[in-house]
Amino acid sequence: MRKKYFILGPLVLLFQSSSLFALELRLPGEPASVQVPAVTAAAADVNQLTADYREIYSALEVYSEAAYAAAQNSPEYIEASAYGQYLRVRLENIAALIKRETGAEYELPAGDARGANAVSLKVLSELIDVFDFNGVLGVREAESRGVLIKQGYCQINYVKGNVPYLVQQDSFLKKGEVILTFDDGPGPLTEEVSAAMKEAGAPSVFFVLGSKLGESGKARIKKAADDGHAVAVHGYNHATEAGKPFTALSTDETLRQLTGVAAGIKAATGKKAAFFRPPYGVISPEALKAITSDLELTPVGWTIDTLDWSTKDPEQLYQNTIAMIKQRGKGIVLLHDIHPQSRTAAARLVKWLAANGYTVVSPDRMTKAFKGE
Ligand SMILES: [Zn+2]
Repeated sequence: MRKKYFILGPLVLLFQSSSLFALELRLPGEPASVQVPAVTAAAADVNQLTADYREIYSALEVYSEAAYAAAQNSPEYIEASAYGQYLRVRLENIAALIKRETGAEYELPAGDARGANAVSLKVLSELIDVFDFNGVLGVREAESRGVLIKQGYCQINYVKGNVPYLVQQDSFLKKGEVILTFDDGPGPLTEEVSAAMKEAGAPSVFFVLGSKLGESGKARIKKAADDGHAVAVHGYNHATEAGKPFTALSTDETLRQLTGVAAGIKAATGKKAAFFRPPYGVISPEALKAITSDLELTPVGWTIDTLDWSTKDPEQLYQNTIAMIKQRGKGIVLLHDIHPQSRTAAARLVKWLAANGYTVVSPDRMTKAFKGE
């Protein structure tokens, strides 16, 4: 019998008693009706961008704390994780705009405001607009219906409202077997990560963005492929230019975008991409079926979410990651090769895995499992 995702009693109490979520009590009416403020991405007003940056940075802290507080793979966890990843992408976009305007690498000092008021109505409205559901901060009633994509491999779950999440299963992995994945590159750290994984005998998957496949990006993924890793499709953007999930696009638009990224990978590496992971794990069943059949890509979720975007401390990330791997004993590990903390923690992680009896297995195992071989 399929696991029920909505037995939320203890967690709901936890969230209700947490000051982090006191804001929900003050939300007026139906959150979906709140007007979403225009995104300031096109504006060159550095003061406004900086204010947005601070606001979203604070919200990111709240959601990363919520993700840490929730049980792995619980609806709260998936939701806070998806929200957090979305906010991180927005932050990176804003930082890039500030850099373009001022030349500065923008980073806030640590220890910014936290707590109930850190998630403003503006940020909440944006999240509700993007994900089209009311999260732990809104209505808790949710209907669950699962659409099976591949029995025993992955399925689409309507975890909240009407938002479909790819839910990965890893029963094809034996205890002690791990698959390593790195998202959102290529970037300046990709070659270092690729080399460290190669040295450790850890063939990994790099889920790349087509928007990062300029001349240097192409060279980076060529190097990753030459190091024995799988270079795979994530999106052109993440997944839309504004950082919205693929559910904001039609199936045709999604296919067109991913066809281009797959072609870019083939041109740069000489190898056909074999895997696809939707940003935030959010994709419609229809689009996913088209991608798996038309582009012959094996969909990939994750079963160990390191939340590496939510900390800057490589030691904390490393300790959290090995704790999660010890707890599950195996899994598909999600990291991002664009963060310095991830680069540092991943290099330590592979050494720890080797010293503790774990094996980093070939990503091809996922294709076999998906095909039922
Ligand atoms: Zn991503």
